[in-house]
Amino acid sequence: MASFHTLDDLGDVEGKRALVRVDLNVPMNDLEVTDDTRFRATLETVNELSGRGAIVLLLAHFGRPKGIQSPDMSLSLVTRQYGETLGRPVRFVDESAGPAVAEAIATMGPGDIAILENTRFYAGEEKNDPELARVMAENGDFYVNDAFSAAHRAHASTEGLAHLLPSYAGRAMEKELKALEAALGNPERPVAAVVGGAKVSSKLEVLRHLVTKVDHLIIGGGMANTFLAARGIDVGKSLCEHDLASTALEILEAADKANCIVHLPYDVVVAREFAPNPPTRIANVHEVEPDEMILDVGPAAVEALADAIKTCRTLVWNGPLGAFETPPFDKATVDLAQTAAALTQSGSLVSVAGGGDTVAALNHAGVADRFTFVSTAGGAFLEWMEGKELPGVKALLRA
Ligand code: ADP
Ligand code: MG
Repeated sequence: MASFHTLDDLGDVEGKRALVRVDLNVPMNDLEVTDDTRFRATLETVNELSGRGAIVLLLAHFGRPKGIQSPDMSLSLVTRQYGETLGRPVRFVDESAGPAVAEAIATMGPGDIAILENTRFYAGEEKNDPELARVMAENGDFYVNDAFSAAHRAHASTEGLAHLLPSYAGRAMEKELKALEAALGNPERPVAAVVGGAKVSSKLEVLRHLVTKVDHLIIGGGMANTFLAARGIDVGKSLCEHDLASTALEILEAADKANCIVHLPYDVVVAREFAPNPPTRIANVHEVEPDEMILDVGPAAVEALADAIKTCRTLVWNGPLGAFETPPFDKATVDLAQTAAALTQSGSLVSVAGGGDTVAALNHAGVADRFTFVSTAGGAFLEWMEGKELPGVKALLRA
């Protein structure tokens, strides 16, 4: 695996200034943080650095202020609750670069922790302006990137800084990179990928990349309909991107050439209306009526998919198999997720999943903590599944 400096490579940091890029972009309702998952993801790194006596300066973005100082997107709004998650008070500094930060540091001691203001209040952040990165770097002795979820952006605080200071992957970043490497970089074979979700169009690059990488490609969700239709199957009123038929056929051909077995559902759950618990029936894909919609993979296909992943050592999963938010169309996703979780727990499968709705679906199935690794990074996880090099990760690579 490409190698990174981690916190293990840091020497004595007592009294040293650590600029630590984290993800504090938590959801809020009025003035309350409604989900502190992202806060909790930073704790290992922050506690370790603080415990080792560093002066910990947290850099993060919050919302999309587009270079304008916007009080409703100030990180001061989350500082108190971050301190509650951390279990100790945290300071807030109302700039993230320049003399105001230096003045605050002068009043801090070893182990102290401060959140610096939203990096996106500076126009130079999203432009990766070298001058902004230089001014930010003046307030640090070293840089730690612990925000995998922001690593697909080449911004001053996610990429630029890594070129100016000794740079290290934080603990969460390190875990994420190791898990992703185990899943697609250098996986144990055979490897299966599950790709589901609404549309082929949002995951074309993912599919194109995966067919060259995995032994089994399991296609479910709305996007399976596009593939079925491309093969001449009438999918009725199902969500389907008919204009992508030739693209779908190209992907199937590429899979064939690469010896990747593509699994499309052969039985499906259909309904005439998309509502909770409507009348449904299980149909062979060739028997979908013109006024019916495919909303989930059928039970026989799910059993075959379970058999396929039982032969595999590695599984990577993005996208639910059906419209899982609406019962009973969660069944295929829940069943296959439970199979994957059981195989993982028995030690025969490395399972890595990611994607906003995928995480929600695995939580709904009650298995998220029984997968090897579940990534909460949305865009960054998808770009990694597309085989792209993430600029924030690349900048951390050892020279
Ligand atoms: P992720 O956020 O994990 O990348 P996506 O956003 O690609 O996943 O897809 C999730 C959405 O796909 C869910 O809202 C789900 O309801 C929808 N979906 C899955 N299967 C179907 C289907 N057969 N018909 C319509 N929508 C579907
Ligand atoms: Mg989504």
